[in-house]
Amino acid sequence: MILVLLGPPGAGKGTQGERIAERLGIPKIATGDVLRAAVRDGTEQGLAAKAYMDRGDLVPDSVILGIMKEVLSSPAAAKGAILDGVVRTVPQAEGLTTMLAELGRKVDRFLLFDVPEDELMKRLGGRVVCDSCQTPYKGLEPGTRCEKCGGNLVRRKDDEPEAIRNRLKVYEAQTAPVIEWTKEKKMNLHKIDATGELDDVTERAMKALEEPTK
Ligand code: AMP
Repeated sequence: MILVLLGPPGAGKGTQGERIAERLGIPKIATGDVLRAAVRDGTEQGLAAKAYMDRGDLVPDSVILGIMKEVLSSPAAAKGAILDGVVRTVPQAEGLTTMLAELGRKVDRFLLFDVPEDELMKRLGGRVVCDSCQTPYKGLEPGTRCEKCGGNLVRRKDDEPEAIRNRLKVYEAQTAPVIEWTKEKKMNLHKIDATGELDDVTERAMKALEEPTK
C-alpha cells in the first residue's frame, strides 16, 4: 500500500506515520528526515536544501522528486510505503503519480490530518527533536537526552517562531491546493481529526484505512 500523509506542519504526520507503519508492516519515509540527514552529511543535495529548510520554505520540486524516485524504487519500499511530508505541491503530486504509474503502482490513499492553526502554533513552538533519531518531544528543554536512543534533543531551526509562521503560510499557499487536486482527480482522500490523544488519532487513521476505496 502506498499511503500519503497530508496536513500542516505540526499535525502529527511523523508520529502517526510511525505508528501506522508499524501496524501495516511497511516503512515510513519522510522527505524532511532524508533532507536533514543530507544536511548533516554535508552532501550536495543537503547543501542545496539547507537554506530553504532553515527559512521554512519548500525545497525545489526537482530535488524532492529525485528523492522519491530513489526511495520508491528501493527494495525497502517493495511492499509499500507511508509517505510523510511529501507531496507538498501539486507538481509533486503529479510527479509522484506519474512515477508510480511507471512502476505499475499508485497512491492507494491520502490521509489528511486536520488540526486548527492555534493548536499547531502551540505544538510546534514547544517541540524539540532528537538530533539523531528525529523523535519529537513536547515540554522538554533542548540539551536533554533522547529517551529512545540517548541522542541530544534540539530545537529545529525551522521551529523558531518566524519560521513556523512561514511554514504555515507556505502550507496554505502551496500544499493546501494538493487537497483540491486529490478531489479533482477522484483520489481516495480521508480527512481525520488529528486533535486529542495519540492513540485516538491512530485509531481514527486505521479506521479510515478500512473504508472502501474508489
Ligand atoms: P518536515 O520535517 O516534513 O517538516 O520538513 C522539513 C523541511 O524540509 C520543510 O520545511 C521543507 O523545507 C523541506 N521539505 C520536506 N519535504 C518537502 C517536500 N515534499 N517538498 C519541499 N520541501 C520539503
